[in-house]
Amino acid sequence: MDCIFCRIIAGEIPSAKVLENEEVVAFHDIHPAAPIHVLVVPKTHVESIQALSEATFPLLLPIHAAIREVAVLTGIAESGYRVISNCGEGAGQSVPHLHYHVLGGRNLGEKLL
Ligand code: 5GP
Ligand code: ZN
Repeated sequence: MDCIFCRIIAGEIPSAKVLENEEVVAFHDIHPAAPIHVLVVPKTHVESIQALSEATFPLLLPIHAAIREVAVLTGIAESGYRVISNCGEGAGQSVPHLHYHVLGGRNLGEKLL
């Protein structure tokens, strides 16, 4: 298995977990871009949003539920947060296993759009 996130999910690489359930794991990013920077990752290996299929679309529901839970657990649900998923190398995706960055804990005023 050469997917770094599959190895984290399998427990082969340690991570600072925020939550884990049957479908999803969430852990702190090793290079945080904000005081709170958590990655929400489905346990099923899907490369990116673009690689989602009829079979894997249902993962989006537990992913979104986990994002909300992560926001509450890390104390940013009220102050606000941003969710980013880089899709493809051209967008800066460096780990080809679908994941959502949850960023908060500081003013995220600088908006891309
Ligand atoms: P991407 O660049 O694909 O959008 O996001 C990948 C993220 O994974 C990066 O922010 C990077 O810091 C994080 N990352 C890469 N390897 C590891 C690791 O081994 N552990 C953790 N916790 N985060 C990682
Ligand atoms: Zn994977």
